[in-house]
Amino acid sequence: MGKIVIISGPSGSGKTTVCKLLEKDPRVKKSVSVTTRLPRQNEKNGEAYHFASTAKFEEMIRRGELAEYAEYCGYYYGTLLSALKEALTKDMVYLLEIEVQGALQIMEKFPETISIFLMPPDKKTLGQRLVQRNANKEQDMALRLKIADKELECKNRYNYCVVNDDLEVTVSTIRKILNLA
Ligand code: ADP
Ligand code: 5GP
Repeated sequence: MGKIVIISGPSGSGKTTVCKLLEKDPRVKKSVSVTTRLPRQNEKNGEAYHFASTAKFEEMIRRGELAEYAEYCGYYYGTLLSALKEALTKDMVYLLEIEVQGALQIMEKFPETISIFLMPPDKKTLGQRLVQRNANKEQDMALRLKIADKELECKNRYNYCVVNDDLEVTVSTIRKILNLA
């Protein structure tokens, strides 16, 4: 039986970086979400995300093909139900790197889910990491920081909160939580 593990946290808190390091373990696989946002430089379709049009995404909603979905910064993001169900039949850790609204939907539908909220050390560092990543326009960055405040209010809904200060410590803490260490 597979384990579903949610990794949430404000944009720039380090979710993608941490998930990539966790995925070095062959027992761990990250779900590839569907989104209507445009690919960033070096994001490949089918790897970072399945990039889809709004019409296609809305069709997927209608057909019940998504385990959860949410709107974030003006775009849709969702988790494929078929892939999640398949992962559950295997003895593996299936990472869902998703925002808070979607995370709450998964917690309700799949109560066995382990949920981890990744925190930045502080707001200033979060801002610096977003700038350093250099993937968002200034206006989008400001909106992401505003949404971060709302997301931080939900951290107590998660099983664990992990502060992502030193990357190595963060990954080893999560590996211990997931009994991978
Ligand atoms: P998210 O997926 O949560 O939006 P990213 O994984 O893209 O965040 O990380 C945002 C930026 O912060 C990236 O440039 C990444 O290299 C950097 N970063 C992530 N974790 C750390 C850390 N522990 N210390 C310093 N920089 C980090
Ligand atoms: P980004 O545009 O930075 O890749 O992602 C924006 C936000 O959407 C992040 O918080 C990310 O975790 C979240 N996200 C990515 N995929 C999904 C998904 O399938 N469902 C939900 N609800 N959020 C997602």
